[in-house]
Amino acid sequence: MASGSDIGSARAARMALGLWLRRVGRQTLRFEGGALRLEKQIRDYSGGGLALFWKRQGIYAGAAFLTSCYYSWQISVMCYLFIQFAETFENTLALRIRAWKGGSLREARYYRNMLLVSSILSSVTICVFISLVARMEGVGNHFMPLFFLFSAGLFAAINNHQIPQILFLRLAMYVVIFLYIPIKDLWVVWPPLSSVLWLQLFTCLFVLYFVVECAIIYLGLYRSGLDQLDELRRERDRVQAAYEVKSQFVSVVSHELRTPLTSINGALGLLRTGAYANDPEKARTILEVAHKNSMRLSALINDLLDLQKLEAGQMSYAFEQVDLAGLIGDSLEGIAGFAETYGVTLHFTPPKAEALVSADHARIQQVMDNLLSNAVKFSHRGGRVDVSVDTGLGGVAVHVRDYGTGIPEGSREKVFGKFTQVDSSDRRAHGGTGLGLAIAQEIMQAHGGSIDYASRPGEGTTFTIQFPPS
Ligand code: ADP
Repeated sequence: MASGSDIGSARAARMALGLWLRRVGRQTLRFEGGALRLEKQIRDYSGGGLALFWKRQGIYAGAAFLTSCYYSWQISVMCYLFIQFAETFENTLALRIRAWKGGSLREARYYRNMLLVSSILSSVTICVFISLVARMEGVGNHFMPLFFLFSAGLFAAINNHQIPQILFLRLAMYVVIFLYIPIKDLWVVWPPLSSVLWLQLFTCLFVLYFVVECAIIYLGLYRSGLDQLDELRRERDRVQAAYEVKSQFVSVVSHELRTPLTSINGALGLLRTGAYANDPEKARTILEVAHKNSMRLSALINDLLDLQKLEAGQMSYAFEQVDLAGLIGDSLEGIAGFAETYGVTLHFTPPKAEALVSADHARIQQVMDNLLSNAVKFSHRGGRVDVSVDTGLGGVAVHVRDYGTGIPEGSREKVFGKFTQVDSSDRRAHGGTGLGLAIAQEIMQAHGGSIDYASRPGEGTTFTIQFPPS
């Protein structure tokens, strides 16, 4: 009851809100970052590629120039043309990605795969170029092709880390050629261990270790940057969701506070004027209205306190053997007056066998009261509400059936959500906080049971609470 101090209740309501907001943040926000993350990787990769366009052109021109001066202009021209083809492919793709609006995981995967193809094109060209030069050199020192390969590997490690698949593929190709060149010489000559050909292989291995290490470091740095970004995004979503719940809370609570308060104020104002001093019957009716509304206020505060206890895991249950038939009878008696005001009749079909369950009497009564008052509230005038109990091996089930407005499909989250109602407009016909069923669900779960409903809009709803077999 609202007999505790108002300040205490307000603090409890605030605590309930706080706990609820935090939990919503944790539970309801599923991270949709998979697509976003890949999109960012693709944009970073292709954006970086575009930015390095002239640098790459300089490298290709330098390599082509040196090759034509010292080896073969034919090979130089052929490889230069191939690499320009690969470049055109990659840059066209990068421009398409820049214009891409994003948002779809399918498109993101498509672009990632196309980038992979483009990267295969350019790395195959580089590998063919290096192998041709090494072949022309014959057995011996491969300073120039190996150094070019080292530069290409380092360039990939520093600039291709955004998409690991591309980085690994490129490095794998370079590693194969890196080892192929000195191993081929050793295979042909098979020199003693003191030969510089062996030294060449060992140096290649040393350099390879360095390139791979460098790639791993860049990859790690980029990944931790992405993780931080994801965390920020999650935090932003949590704040947004919390803000929405807060708005819902404020709107529901203010509506539910304002309506009864206005009515109580009105009733007290009328009595204060003394206009009904000689009409005790009329004064009684007005007091009844004020009393009904103060009960409504206290119900709201009780709901908030329950919510707080549930969220804090502080709801305690006193389990005992409860006879559901008796409990339902009490609930029906309690709700009879309310049903009368709605012109609704209540019908109870008692169970054939004794319906004994292990439960907290007061809490299950609270669930039943909520189901019955909802059934009455959402019935049409002159309607009826049927209550029945099923006992069986699967446990005990209680059904509360009404023939009222029904619940539209797809409203489950609103029905069992906190501070949510199927009709949340200001013009809705029935008051309520949207907390009753959320609390009922938690209570049933604590009993190892469940609560569910089946409904047809316009034809009515059946709510069922199920207890596990004892
Ligand atoms: P409240 O009744 O205080 O709004 P509840 O959690 O008890 O909160 O119910 C949540 C919502 O579920 C209600 O606002 C209503 O939209 C819907 N609802 C519950 N029971 C029924 C019913 N028997 N028929 C139609 N709608 C219902």
